[in-house]
Amino acid sequence: MVVGEREIRDIVLEVVSKLKQEEATAGSLGIFETMKEAIDASIAAQKVMHSLSMDGREKIIQNIRKHTIEKAEALAVLGVEETGMGNVPHKILKHKLVAEKTPGTEDITTTAWSGDRGLTLVEMGPFGVIGAITPCTNPSETIICNTIGMIAGGNTVVFNPHPAAIKTSIMAVNLINQASLEAGGPGNIAVTVSKPTMETSDQMMKHPAIGLIAATGGPGVVTSVLSSGKRGIGAGAGNPPVLVDDTADVAKAAEDIINGCTFDNNLPCIAEKEVVAFENITDELIYHMKENGAYLIGEEQQLQLTSLVLPDGKLNRKYVGKNAKYILAGIGIEVPDTVRCIIFEGRKEHPLIAEELMMPILGVVRARDIDDAIEKAVWLEHGNRHSAHMHSKNIDNLTRFGKAIDTAIFVKNAPSYSALGFGGEGFCTFTIASRTGEGLTSASTFTKRRRCVMADSFCVR
Ligand code: NAD
Repeated sequence: MVVGEREIRDIVLEVVSKLKQEEATAGSLGIFETMKEAIDASIAAQKVMHSLSMDGREKIIQNIRKHTIEKAEALAVLGVEETGMGNVPHKILKHKLVAEKTPGTEDITTTAWSGDRGLTLVEMGPFGVIGAITPCTNPSETIICNTIGMIAGGNTVVFNPHPAAIKTSIMAVNLINQASLEAGGPGNIAVTVSKPTMETSDQMMKHPAIGLIAATGGPGVVTSVLSSGKRGIGAGAGNPPVLVDDTADVAKAAEDIINGCTFDNNLPCIAEKEVVAFENITDELIYHMKENGAYLIGEEQQLQLTSLVLPDGKLNRKYVGKNAKYILAGIGIEVPDTVRCIIFEGRKEHPLIAEELMMPILGVVRARDIDDAIEKAVWLEHGNRHSAHMHSKNIDNLTRFGKAIDTAIFVKNAPSYSALGFGGEGFCTFTIASRTGEGLTSASTFTKRRRCVMADSFCVR
């Protein structure tokens, strides 16, 4: 067997890396006291990462996928325990989805032109060290998903995770570096600080080695990243409406909506947050929602619920990502475990409808016709351009709403999570760049385009 130069280099790197493995595993596996130490380690790791072959990067990614599947339950349990949000079975599914459907090196492609004047390629090169800010709603899911994409592009990543999910985030960072070392890659391909704060976030954003920042979270963090003077990928807040017209299969629409809205207790930013329904099918829709575990509340209970989850108009984080039974108990209503969602009818301006709650509370707004429905749904999305969903068999209505709402995600006749590749085609991501327009991010999003030109040669036509 003839061993090429690239293979020899990979073998040498693997041996060197294995020699360093003991030292690295005895240390922090990506966890540092200060942001400066974290970034320095990431810079060193990126040099090794960029020198690896694509095959070498892919081996690391495959091992991250394997470890994520093996640790899906442990990550889910810790995530729920630490943040008090979401539920274990759905978080297990989310981790498996990330492991199986986040694109790796196959997403790094080349464009070529060849002709009389030679050959020109456009390649996707690494940015280098990327800064990433992650939410508490999908903490380890986002960290693992971001890392797979970023290292596929030859980058390494410095995380400033949400402080409320730091233990879960550390577990994810440890898992990633362990997987890399085992696969012959460097340690510290993903790093973080043990105590992330606004200050460490600021240090990360201002560090000269960080050229690209990916922010996944609410409006505050996205605005802050976009004001940093660096290139920013802004994956911000949503308030996805789901529109149901009178051509829809109403029973299926109700089932899909309740399934999507209650997934991980409504934490995903893409999840159905309110319904706009044609008035001639609203009663039927509500009937079928109740058949699927929805609990209908009246006006008095809506007032109580508003004071509970939006006291003084501000989101009460104690109820974010909690299940319907827990939330109803907060207003003195005991229900069986089969109740999955709280529903009510209201105007679009109702605070429980207009605000992004991230709880299984679903207001239903009646609409006269498609014009009225589109106007209400577009207003409710607040210009986030994030996600919207629709149940209909009328292609004109579907097209009109799709154009008017102009969101990164538009799901038709399915639960919202099919947009993440769960029961729908396509890849998975937990960073949906709604504000900056990259849409569903993947490895290619985290690269820069580089043109390589060979004039007057290599055209063999
Ligand atoms: P959050 O905005 O409270 O926190 C997100 C991250 O940003 C955390 O790491 C936090 O510490 C940091 N942060 C917050 N304000 C900051 C600022 N001014 N400067 C620097 N860092 C700051 O959000 P969360 O509660 O963790 O997550 C839920 C929110 O994120 C929802 O609005 C949801 O829609 C959104 N989200 C969006 C996506 C997406 O892909 N578009 C994915 C998940 C969550």
